[in-house]
Amino acid sequence: MRSREEMAEVVRRLEAYYPDAQCALEAGEDPFRLLVMAILSAQCTDARVNLVSGPLFARFPDAPSLAEGSIEEIEELIRTCGLYHSKAKNLHLMSVRLTEVYGGKVPSEMDDLLSLAGVGRKVANLIRGDVFGLGGIVADTHCIRISNLLGFADSTDPHKVERQLDGLVPKDKQSDFCHRLVQYGRNVCVARRPQCGVCVLRDVCAHACAGKETP
Ligand code: SF4
Repeated sequence: MRSREEMAEVVRRLEAYYPDAQCALEAGEDPFRLLVMAILSAQCTDARVNLVSGPLFARFPDAPSLAEGSIEEIEELIRTCGLYHSKAKNLHLMSVRLTEVYGGKVPSEMDDLLSLAGVGRKVANLIRGDVFGLGGIVADTHCIRISNLLGFADSTDPHKVERQLDGLVPKDKQSDFCHRLVQYGRNVCVARRPQCGVCVLRDVCAHACAGKETP
């Protein structure tokens, strides 16, 4: 596995390439909205989630209101996100627990977040990092794929990749690093055809160094 110093160089270059790291989910400053949108984003594009969220939050602006909503009505509002039966059920259960156990506020501890319906480690780390500044590797498809290509991870298992990167990226850099990987995965290191010829990580990428880069 590659070193922390090598990872520090990757982090520096991505910071220079994307000075403003941004979460693709447009949740504003509201932790509850980010949590809902992160749950909706499973197997759905962020653009679609952003679109659906306007009407959803106009009807259900917070955990108590969503906890009182009917699953059928939630389903109607999120239908185009896919998996809407299970997502509506999870959003409802999550909001009930958030309201009854946490006073309607999103908790910061990993175990508390994981006790909420629809919340796995990826969503929990997003919340801990973006909302509470606690860091957290968001091991999504871009993070896993690019980390493997670069040679900083050797698995497609999200939890294993999370652990591997957690040991290499400082906590205070983790959230923005993951946001930048998403941007990079969409614009440069694209899944089907990585643009190695214009990649700022080319000389430090294990994939490119192995001579397999796309011309
Ligand atoms: S060199 Fe190619 S494979 Fe490696 S990170 Fe850049 S675009 Fe991705």
